[in-house]
Amino acid sequence: MQIGIVGLPNVGKSTLFNAITKAGAECANYPFCTIEPNVGTVAVPDHRLNELAAMVNPAKIIPATVEFVDIAGLVRGASKGEGLGNKFLSHIREVEAIAHVVRCFEDPDIVHVEGNIDPIRDVETINLELILADLEVIERRLEKAKKMSKSGDKQYILETEIIERIKNQLEAEKPVRSMEFSDDEKVFVRQLQLLTYKPVIYVANVSEDDLLEENQYVKRLKEYAQKENSEVIVICAKIEAELADLPDDEKEEFLKELGLSEPGLNKLIRTGYRILGLINYFTAGPKEVHAWTIKKGTKAPEAAGKIHSDFEKGFIRAEVIGYNDLISAGSPAAAKEKGLMRLEGKDYVVQDGDVIVFRFNV
Ligand code: GDP
Repeated sequence: MQIGIVGLPNVGKSTLFNAITKAGAECANYPFCTIEPNVGTVAVPDHRLNELAAMVNPAKIIPATVEFVDIAGLVRGASKGEGLGNKFLSHIREVEAIAHVVRCFEDPDIVHVEGNIDPIRDVETINLELILADLEVIERRLEKAKKMSKSGDKQYILETEIIERIKNQLEAEKPVRSMEFSDDEKVFVRQLQLLTYKPVIYVANVSEDDLLEENQYVKRLKEYAQKENSEVIVICAKIEAELADLPDDEKEEFLKELGLSEPGLNKLIRTGYRILGLINYFTAGPKEVHAWTIKKGTKAPEAAGKIHSDFEKGFIRAEVIGYNDLISAGSPAAAKEKGLMRLEGKDYVVQDGDVIVFRFNV
């Protein structure tokens, strides 16, 4: 699961990305972490892992992770191939969600490519490039769908209708993600791989002084985001970079001084996780406490398959204790005694926080 970081030049993308890479450095110990220059892997902060670890004293704690991809180079005119335009657009096509960094800090020493600070103009500049790139895709698809629907094929007639609706939206310079679709339509729209259908988090990069109180730029950005049902997260990239450099105890101290309860990065990671529709279930034993990532709605066998494909193939049942039940009981054995452990079959939809032991045939 990857989240792409986009934004105009000089808005703080690299600063934020560096903070992400540093925060994720410890993660390089995990075998599944790939190291690429423009990809940063971070652990998804989840206090439940620590609580579970306190209960079972595992040798290892393995958190869920999210990858951030630094997609620099988007500028006005990118969809026309300006700058390295199209190359960057194709990188965005590969990510599941977008973190759009918006400059909401004033600093006369740092040049703004457009001359002054104006978050809405900046957001619209980037969004327009994505809209234009989508329009190109849609026009090609429309031509094909129209041709195919001449034979009276219902599927293509339906597709033509959806594509035309999307085209109208894009021509009005609006993103596809703010359109309403039925569940069936969603399946089709998803496979069009449109850039403006991907969920977005707007990351308002403010100065240190504006972290606690919304400045006028953030207020305007929030109004804008609300119209398309997107979220805004307020951070100070510079502070995030400084935080990432500190040892844990000093980090706490620094956060307290700033009046913050946690790094902005944590909020960004969690929000990213949520808008991707991801949840965690846990396995907890003496070897490790492990958070496993699944999409909301995943059934038990497929969830088991995240651990090993044999678990899915040979799935018999899942022994499930809800996280809160386990914590209140104090141990898996106590939870069992109290009848808080459930035996679930192959149709069980795994819930966020389930602590599971899978039984399977080999
Ligand atoms: P990018 O081009 O979007 O990757 O932007 P950079 O991360 O390179 O940042 C551009 C400049 O803005 C650098 O000199 C950063 O130090 C500075 N910068 C980034 N975030 C902040 C911030 O929150 N406050 C201030 N004052 N400067 C920042």
